[in-house]
Amino acid sequence: MPTPKTFQRKGKTSPRRQSPKTITPTHVLAVDPRDSARLGGIRQSNTNIERQTQLILHSLGLRFRTKNRSLPGSPDLANHQERWAIFVHGCYWHSHQGCPRATIPKRNRDFWLAKFEANRARDARALRSLRRCGYRAVVVWECQLHSAPERVRKRLARLLLEQRIRVSDEVSTDLH
Ligand SMILES: [Zn+2]
Repeated sequence: MPTPKTFQRKGKTSPRRQSPKTITPTHVLAVDPRDSARLGGIRQSNTNIERQTQLILHSLGLRFRTKNRSLPGSPDLANHQERWAIFVHGCYWHSHQGCPRATIPKRNRDFWLAKFEANRARDARALRSLRRCGYRAVVVWECQLHSAPERVRKRLARLLLEQRIRVSDEVSTDLH
């Protein structure tokens, strides 16, 4: 079993939160300088989609925390009391299956294939762990936010408001 610290460090895959410690020589070799601009763009886009999701939650009257390192996979947004967590995933970095945004760089293709596969496996593990802890764990994809934000809003409203009711029912049952 990994220690919690290791787990947390590995839990976040996006480059924006990668600490210098996690950059191994393999990474340095694999990231071609020509890809740097592209990765910079992805980082910016991650910030935007996270902000967009935050605005949706605000509009639904849902409160959340943004730094959730104590939870599996460090979800981008979570409410510990209401036991829900959201991952806002960039389609490229989290390798959204079947999505046109999830391209594989031509250079160092094998490295990237392995990397994306590992990212996907890690994301799936985090979702499973959270659900085992009684959390409603939701993934919001970049492409969904771009093409159908209203659909994302409706889905989050349905899932998270339902979860809020479920948890508050459990709490009131416990009190009796
Ligand atoms: Zn996508």
